[in-house]
Amino acid sequence: MSEFDLISRYFANATASRSDVALAIGDDCALLEVPEGMQLAVSMDTLVCGRHFVPDVDPKSLGHKALAVNLSDLAAMGASPAWVMLALTLPDQEEAWVEQFMLGFSALAAEHNVQLVGGDTTRGHLSISLQAHGFVPKDKALRRDAAQVGDLIYVSGERLGDAGLALLVQQGRYNEASDLDGLQRQLDWPQPRLELGQALLEYATAAIDISDGLGADLRHICDESGVGASLYAGHIPMSAAMKHYIKAGGDENLPLSAGDDYELVFTIPLDDQIRFETAMHEQGHKVTMIGVIESGNSITVISHDGLSSSEAVSGYDHFKD
Ligand code: ADP
Ligand code: MG
Repeated sequence: MSEFDLISRYFANATASRSDVALAIGDDCALLEVPEGMQLAVSMDTLVCGRHFVPDVDPKSLGHKALAVNLSDLAAMGASPAWVMLALTLPDQEEAWVEQFMLGFSALAAEHNVQLVGGDTTRGHLSISLQAHGFVPKDKALRRDAAQVGDLIYVSGERLGDAGLALLVQQGRYNEASDLDGLQRQLDWPQPRLELGQALLEYATAAIDISDGLGADLRHICDESGVGASLYAGHIPMSAAMKHYIKAGGDENLPLSAGDDYELVFTIPLDDQIRFETAMHEQGHKVTMIGVIESGNSITVISHDGLSSSEAVSGYDHFKD
C-alpha cells in the first residue's frame, strides 16, 4: 500500500463532514471556518510507543485514546470540538493496524461530531501526534489562572487514580486487583468530559484536565492563579478496586498522584455552590467537592482522620528522571 492509498482508504472518509469545513483532506491545506463570536481553541498531544503505550497495545483502543486525550484538553477549556489533524509515524505500512486504529478513532470522533481534516503520514518509530481544534465563546474559555481564594474545588468522575492502578497491574507491580476489566477500561478508554466542560463555562473560575495526576494538575491551577489549596483526601471519589488496594497497604496517595484520568478539576465560587450542584445533578454530571482554594501557595492534603496534613505529592513529569 502506498502512502496515498492509506490516506484515501483510511483517513479521507474516516469521519463525518461538517458544514464549517470548506475543504478537507486532499489538498495542501484544509480550509476551515470559525463561527462568528467564537475563538479557536487549539491543542496538540503526542503519544510515543514505549513511552505512552506498550508496543502490543490494542490499536483500536489506542485510536480512541489518542483522540480522547486531545479532546480532553478542549473539554478543560470549555471548548466544543470541531476538527482534528493526525500525524502518524508508522514503522511499516501495517494496514491491519491502521484499520483498527482508525476504528477506535472514528467511533469517538463520531460521538462528538469531530471531523478529521488533514494530517501527515510518515515512516519511522511508531508515534502519533494529534492537533484538536474547538470553539469557545470569545474571552469565555476556562483557564488555569483565575481561581479565587474561597472557591470550592471539584473533580469529575467516580474513580480517581484507577488508570494509574491499571498501569501498576500491567507492569506486574500489583497482582491482587479486583475488577481488572474496569481498571483496564479506565486506562485504555478514557472519556473526554466535553459536555461537562461546556456546562462549566457558566460556573467555573478555572479548570484543567487530569493528565499528570490530580495533585500535579491542581498545582498548575494554584501556580497560575497565585493561590494555595486544601484538599480533603476522604472526599476524593474512589472505586472499590482502589479502596481495596489502599486497605491492603498500597500507596494511599495514588488517587492524587496517578496520571491518565482525564477527568476535570475546576473551581466554583462558594456563593454558586447550590445553583451549580443542582445544575450538575439535573444534567447528569458526576462531580464531587474535594477541597477549597486558600491564600498562599501550598497545597495541604487533609487526611482521612481530619488531623494530619501534608504537602501534596507531585505527578508525572517527562523530564524529571
Ligand atoms: P503534502 O505533501 O502536500 O503535505 P501529503 O501528501 O502529506 O500532502 O497529504 C495529502 C493529503 O492527505 C493532505 O490533505 C493531508 O492533510 C492528508 N493526510 C495525510 N496524512 C494524513 C493522516 N494521517 N490523517 C489525515 N489526513 C492526512
Ligand atoms: Mg505533507
